[in-house]
Amino acid sequence: ILPNSLHARDVAYQFHPYTNARRHERIGPMVIDRGSGVYVYDDQGREYIEALAGLWSVAVGFGEQRLVDAATRQMARLPYYHTFSHKSHEPSIELAEKLVKMSPDGLDHVFFTNSGSEANDTVVKLAWYYNNALDRPQKKKFIARNGGYHGITVVAGSLTGLQVNQRGFDLPLPFVRHVTCPHHYRYAEAGESEEAFADRLAAELEATILAEGPDTVAAFIGEPVMGAGGVLVPPRTYWQKVQEVCRRYDVLVVADEVINGFGRLGTLFACETFDIKPDLLVVSKQITSSYQPLAAVLFSDAVYQAIADQTERLGNFGHGFTASGHPVATAVGLENLAIIEERGLVANAAKVGARLQAGLATFADHPLVGEVRGIGLIGAVELVADKATKAKFDPPGKVGLYLFERAQEHGLIVRAIADTIAFCPPLIITEAQIDEVLARFGRALDDTQAWVVAGMPA
Ligand code: PLP
Repeated sequence: ILPNSLHARDVAYQFHPYTNARRHERIGPMVIDRGSGVYVYDDQGREYIEALAGLWSVAVGFGEQRLVDAATRQMARLPYYHTFSHKSHEPSIELAEKLVKMSPDGLDHVFFTNSGSEANDTVVKLAWYYNNALDRPQKKKFIARNGGYHGITVVAGSLTGLQVNQRGFDLPLPFVRHVTCPHHYRYAEAGESEEAFADRLAAELEATILAEGPDTVAAFIGEPVMGAGGVLVPPRTYWQKVQEVCRRYDVLVVADEVINGFGRLGTLFACETFDIKPDLLVVSKQITSSYQPLAAVLFSDAVYQAIADQTERLGNFGHGFTASGHPVATAVGLENLAIIEERGLVANAAKVGARLQAGLATFADHPLVGEVRGIGLIGAVELVADKATKAKFDPPGKVGLYLFERAQEHGLIVRAIADTIAFCPPLIITEAQIDEVLARFGRALDDTQAWVVAGMPA
């Protein structure tokens, strides 16, 4: 790391999310300088295919001039205004209407936040206020899943079911329960079919609600397809079964589509893929292709009406952010959703996604690969120490990190989630570019295999 370089100053001054601080001091940052389409370029001019779309989010690719223009126009007209206390502005109104019209039936109202974490905090507050409005103040618990990811604020981080977000922070808060992750490969019993596994998890959810007391459980929250937990696609019948249980006990269903939403699975929303009828839906990331920070909670008229009816008694919904519905973010969101529609990117995700899934499946026989999984333009390859027993590597994450680094050397950015390699490229990606992703990954996998066979030398 050269003295006074960007790299040295980064190490000196910037404390990074999800980064091993001591390792960062040694190796410094990878400084990304610019992007174009599915490619990004570092400060040395090296090109990479961004096969994770940044953080699962840059749907329309990098360098999209229409989004730059939309932001610039809005900046010039009204760079900022808030939405508190009856104030509003055109882009937030238009985007709220657009979201209600494009989303699954039964979601009629929109609350904007800056991030997915804040949106999930908002979900909790909506559910709590709703149950206070209905005079059942004890109905406040949330049930989430191990392996789920709902963000990192103190409340959203409590919903998240990953150790890294909780160890060291004394989370989760006591209002949250976590149930089994719907990952058949890891958690099914010997010989258990996908359907039987889904039935068992629904029974577990019901038993949890009954043990807690149905009058204490407000909501069940889940990502239809889990992202940060390792790209976990549940059994086809899972969501149907858990919804039946939730309805039986008047438990709200919350779909967190922060990664899934706006075409990732080859459908506009994952709720279509799995026939989910949520009471609340959380979206972010691909809503603006992350060109601007923005998230939203969509919720049912029943929740809205109960809250609205009791505002005199309980006070205004005392929640919101300086930048809720930010005019530049919502203007960019509108233009981004227009691009997704005009370019047929949802259909592209289905078509090109099939090629990604077929390509990933060809690695299933590789000696390091335990499971290949995915749907649409999101997928993963899980590496294992022993294919037959599914034994994980010890220590976990070392092999994944090695592969991740080899992939970068081959010009490919993926995500290593311990020893699972995740793929989630921009929705604009072409079949030829998918083939290139797979070829570069294959080279990195072979390099990794050679290193493992050699005893993982330092
Ligand atoms: N929910 C899901 C499903 C996510 O994947 C994420 C982020 O990756 C979040 C919530 C949190 O979003 P943010 O990082 O914007 O707070």
